[in-house]
This record gives sequence, structure tokens and C-alpha cells, in this order.
Amino acid sequence: KSLASKRIAGVGDRCEGRVRSGMTTELEHFIDGKRVAGTSGNHDDVFDPNTGGVQARVPLASSGEVDAAVRGAAEAQREWANWNPQRRARVLMRFLELCREEMDSLARLLASEHGKTVPDAKGDVQRGLEVVEFATGIPHLLKGEYTEGAGAGIDVYSMRQPLGVAVGITPFNFPAMIPLWKAAPAIACGNSFVLKPSERDPSVPLRLAELFVEAGLPPGVFNVVNGDKTAVDALLTHQDVAAVGFVGSSDIAEYIHSTATAHGKRAQCFGGAKNHMIIMPDADLDQAVEALVGAGYGSAGERCMAISVAVPVGQPTAEALVEKLTERVNGLRIGTSFDDSADFGPLVTAAAKQRVDDYIGIGVEEGADLLVDGRGFRMPEHENGFFTGASLFDNVTSDMRIYNEEIFGPVLSVVRAAVYEEALRLPSQHQYGNGVAIFTRDGDAAREFAGRVDTGMVGINVPIPVPIAYHTFGGWKRSGFGDLNQHGPDSIRFYTRTKTVTSRWPSGRKEEASFTIPTMH
Ligand code: NAD
Repeated sequence: KSLASKRIAGVGDRCEGRVRSGMTTELEHFIDGKRVAGTSGNHDDVFDPNTGGVQARVPLASSGEVDAAVRGAAEAQREWANWNPQRRARVLMRFLELCREEMDSLARLLASEHGKTVPDAKGDVQRGLEVVEFATGIPHLLKGEYTEGAGAGIDVYSMRQPLGVAVGITPFNFPAMIPLWKAAPAIACGNSFVLKPSERDPSVPLRLAELFVEAGLPPGVFNVVNGDKTAVDALLTHQDVAAVGFVGSSDIAEYIHSTATAHGKRAQCFGGAKNHMIIMPDADLDQAVEALVGAGYGSAGERCMAISVAVPVGQPTAEALVEKLTERVNGLRIGTSFDDSADFGPLVTAAAKQRVDDYIGIGVEEGADLLVDGRGFRMPEHENGFFTGASLFDNVTSDMRIYNEEIFGPVLSVVRAAVYEEALRLPSQHQYGNGVAIFTRDGDAAREFAGRVDTGMVGINVPIPVPIAYHTFGGWKRSGFGDLNQHGPDSIRFYTRTKTVTSRWPSGRKEEASFTIPTMH
């Protein structure tokens, strides 16, 4: 198979022009190896969060368009699954090269629709590529099990076979990373993939689709269908879809999980979060404060692994932490996505900004102390952009809505715990169980905490414990529905099914029929 040497001028290049000129672009779907115009007549606006203006229109697929994409993917999968795993891995290797060459324009395109800063957008792409790197190990990862002589003359082996068509439904906040977390292991295993990205920032997924084809992926193996609930529901109920991976808010995750599984599909659905950071009395406070502002306010708090609750243990720790934190939060720099010195940029939409501002009002009404108020922040020359400042609450309690609900913005709540056991109880009893961190110099306390806390991912002096690609990522409680995590070995289990073969080559002797269940003596 020749690997295309000529670069395709895709949406990435067009977007560079678009960002500069301010023109509105009509986006498309990517089906069967090419961009395809939407035919449903329904569209959604894609904003530039820095200016507040509409920069593109994304088509919303009808169930008929979804059906055509899934059928094409099912057709392409049969041939793709016949490629040997090493050959499939080589496509991913070439894809990695292309993405690295295009890192700058991918990051700018991503930042222009999401609002995160360009360096942070590069991290979004890079964390996705790390899972592609993991998936290039597919020849090794797909090796099955073998038992010689399980009974007299009997050998048993198992193999992992692809499922068929896998679907990914992904959120706005990591438009490169999460699609790649899902698609790379899925296609490496020999499945084809239909991605339904967020309507807020679909251009990077479309560009990734073009790069896959340029890397040598056969048409139809990776598809992008843009859309809303109509498209999602058509995917969840389509008879040719075998597996559904979802990331987004918890109520939708639960809906996707129950609908997909009721239609006979396997599903892994990851939801919202409220990640706590425990600061023990022996922690290095300066280190903890730096970790808190980075993990709390980076990407304007629009990360599922953002720290949104700080839990200092004991009164002296709380007093010292809050003093340092207030000063640091007041000094945070908000800028446009393209301002290299900005700590964070705008929120993704006007509705997201309104939601954050509303939660701050709720916190004040509930009686929390608002030490830093980000509402009312205006970015000079970008007055219509979706900017909000950093906010900090102290004396938040576990009965408040601002504690129990996910805000998904640059808002940090300090919940003071008198003792360690109380600090351990807070994340353990929270409805969400995505990530948690403890900052301490005491190895024994850290080890005990990691063992007992009721969340899926734990950081020890690490504020954002997103596991590396070859381990797995997944939250507990209302942060995850389904039983296998993303990337790492779980992803290979999720995107394949096991077939087990029990074989005996006849020795020539005839046996009489046996009417009891075979057992290995
Ligand atoms: P969202 O739930 O609004 O949307 C996610 C996806 O679901 C999108 O593709 C969207 O089009 C689709 N969708 C939305 N409403 C739907 C409906 N009624 N029926 C069917 N499909 C629907 O989430 P978002 O605002 O894009 O992303 C932010 C959320 O994602 C936050 O809650 C965040 O914590 C969560 N998130 C979780 C993880 C994780 O790994 N646990 C990672 C990133 C983001």
C-alpha cells in the first residue's frame, strides 16, 4: 500500500485562513475517506470563544446520514480486519509522523474553537498521540493465550478478534485527545470507527480523519459524523454498531450506557468529576499552591481532571494555604488563546460562561466566602469573548451545591477538614470519583490514602494524575459507567472479543460418544 506523499490541503489549512480573515466556514462530515457535505439541512454554529463571533457552521447529521456512514464503515472493516496487525501498526506510525509535522496548525485550530491556549492545545494533541504510540504495539497486544496438553492430546488457545464497527461520542474539552484515545486502539484491533465529536469544536477531528487517510488508512475505517442527539441516537440503536465509547457529562453518560447496552452493544461511558486535592499539614505549601493553581485554572478549569476542591487538613494548614492561594489566584493572567503569556483563555461558549457565573452567585447565596470574584472580567479588545476571571471560595461545606455539582470553570473551592479521616471521607463520599490527589511528605499517609480512597485515579504529590497511555484511565461512581477503562490493556479488551479454541487432532482411535460434560482429568 503506498503511503501518500502528497499532503492534502485540509480543514487545518483552511482554518488558518479562516481564523485570520474571520470568514464563516461550512464544515462537513468525513465519510468513506472524504469530506461530505451535510444533507439534513440542520446546522449548529461554531464560535470563536476569543471574539464571541461565529466562525463556522457544522452540519448535524440525520439518522439516514448516520446509517450511510455506519454501513460504509461495516463494509470497510471486513477488509481492514484482514490486514495483519503489523501492517495496521505501520499506518498508525505514519499517522504519528504526520500529526507531529502538523502539530502547530493542529494546536492553533484546536485553540481557535475551544479557547484553551496554544501550548495547552499542543498537550491535548500530544496526550492523544501517546495513545496512538501505545496502539502501534498492537502485534504484541493482540497475542492470545495458549495451553499445550490441557487434556490428553488437547490444546487450548484463545484469540482476540475485532468487534466490527465501534463508535466514539466525545466532549468539547479535549477534541484531539479523547477521539484518539478511542479511535487508535479500536482501529489497531481491526475495527472501523465512527466518531461523533462535539458540535463545539469539530474541526480538529475532521483534520485527523484526513491525516489518517493520508497515512494509508483505507477509506471508511475512520469516519466523522457531526451531529447532536439525533445522530447519537441513530448510532446507539444501529444494528451494525458493536461498541460505544462515550466521554461527556454524567447524565448523558448514563443515558448512553443504558441505551447502548439495551441495544446489545458493549459500552464504556465516562462522565463528570469533582476532583479533590488533600493538603496534609506536612506538605510543601508552595509546591501545593503551584499545583493547585495549575490544576484548578489551567484550560479555564474545563478539564475532567481539573482540581476543583482543595482540602487543607487542620486550621494552621488552611490559614497558610488560603493566604498564599488568594495572592496567587489574584495574579493569574487571562489572555486570548494565542497569547503565549496567558495562564488560561476564554470558556468555550457564552452558555458555559453564564453557567460558571451563575454557580458563583449560588455559592455566595449558600454562604461560602468568595475570596476572589472572576465575574465581570472583561478582556480588552475582546469584550464579546467568553472570558471569565479566576474565582476562589473558602469555607465551602459538603451540603452546598457548589461542592456537590460540577462547575467546569475556573473556580476553586476550599473545604476545610479538621483531621485526615474527614479529608479522606470527602472525595470518598462524593457522587463523582474521577481523580483525587494528596500532597504530603509522609509516604505512609500517602500509601494509606491511595489504598482507601473511593476514586478511580489517585495522585501522590501529582495534581492531575492522568495515567500514562499504557496504563488505563477511568473514574468510579458517577464518573464512569461500564466496566473497562480507556487506553492501556483495558482498551484492547474493550475493542476485541475473545474466541477460545479447544483442539484435538485425532490419533486414529475412535471413541464412543460421551454424555457427561468434558472435564480435564
Ligand atoms: P456533553 O455531555 O454535553 O457532550 C458530550 C457528547 O455528548 C457530545 O458529543 C454531545 O454532542 C453529546 N450529547 C450531548 N447531549 C446529548 C444528548 N441529550 N443525547 C445524546 N448525546 C448528547 O459534555 P461536554 O460539555 O461536551 O463535555 C464536558 C463534560 O465532559 C464534563 O462533564 C466533563 O467532566 C466531562 N468529561 C469527562 C471526562 C472523563 O474522562 N471522565 C473527560 C473529559 C470530559
